[in-house]
Amino acid sequence: MAEDQNGLASRASADVVVLGAGPAGLVLGNLLVAAGIDCVVLERATRSRIRARAKAGFLAPNTVRILDRHGLADGLHRDGRSHGACEFRTPDGGFRLEYGDLGRGERHTVYPQQNLVTDLLERYVDAGGQIRFSTEALAVHDADGTHPHVSAREPDGRPVRWDARYVAGCDGRHGAARRSLPPDAVRHHHDHGVSRLACSPRPRPASTPSATPSTTAASPGTWPADPRSRATTWSVDAVPLPTPGPRSASGTNGELLGRILTACPSLRGTLIERPHAFEAARRSLGSMECGARCDYRSGDFADVPHGGDV
Ligand SMILES: Cc1cc2nc3c(=O)[nH]c(=O)nc-3n(C[C@H](O)[C@H](O)[C@H](O)COP(=O)(O)OP(=O)(O)OC[C@H]3O[C@@H](n4cnc5c(N)ncnc54)[C@H](O)[C@@H]3O)c2cc1C
Repeated sequence: MAEDQNGLASRASADVVVLGAGPAGLVLGNLLVAAGIDCVVLERATRSRIRARAKAGFLAPNTVRILDRHGLADGLHRDGRSHGACEFRTPDGGFRLEYGDLGRGERHTVYPQQNLVTDLLERYVDAGGQIRFSTEALAVHDADGTHPHVSAREPDGRPVRWDARYVAGCDGRHGAARRSLPPDAVRHHHDHGVSRLACSPRPRPASTPSATPSTTAASPGTWPADPRSRATTWSVDAVPLPTPGPRSASGTNGELLGRILTACPSLRGTLIERPHAFEAARRSLGSMECGARCDYRSGDFADVPHGGDV
């Protein structure tokens, strides 16, 4: 690393600068290192934060196949659980869907994202991969030119410039990479032909042994707490309450968050949603008498705030 001409920013370089040490950035880092390509991962959070940050729990079969193909799936095969059923509840009753027996007969693997990230990180570092924690990318420059580079902030706050042949933006949809894309950049989209099913859970008596979603930081509430259970059933009234303090974040119209706040009067919540949904959420949370303990933040549910749970 050398001093910039203006004496302000240090300079460093790698053939590929990867922004973000989430699953995408770390899988890419592993592939690059395995191929002998010089790369560095810049990650805004600390090492301990990314190893503990709870997000996903269910890995789709295709994801597992990709990880398998590249030898990155040892941990999930060792400690993950196969999952092929879920239960839907409606005011008219519930039904259990054995989705693992349908279609191509594929099942999900339940493996907390933070465990997968830890596996990928250890594998990357063991293979000699470079990573800079607590280093925030601020912008990507010359993104569509021949000399792309990244301006970033080092852990002590000093500016650093990373020159690269390629910059890979794996820093999430609110990251610096997406912000830096010129409006006229060529964009390629691939539609995988799947969409997200969102359920607004209502407490109904479980017809099968219930696996209760947890809202602790160690598990984001989407996989069975009971290792013997094959199904995920939602029973929001029965959420085990965390100790007072942590913030909860949730999308939907606020009903899920409202149920958590009602059950736990000492908690405050943050509703992360698109702004057009705030009015309905305010009404919903107000009618549940917990509107005063809720903050509103524009964003999407994949953007859990620091310290958030769900
Ligand atoms: C509550 C919840 C439950 C979910 N459940 C599932 C599920 O069951 N199954 C599933 O498949 N998916 C699930 N998802 C989605 C899944 O978590 C995401 O698809 C996945 O995290 C995306 O990985 P990524 O590497 O692209 O981005 P991220 O995981 O968002 O990683 C981005 C990384 O970039 C870093 N970063 C951000 N900005 C900067 C910057 N400026 N400079 C440097 N670093 C930066 C971040 O700190 C982070 O480490 C869930 C998400 C949430 C929030």
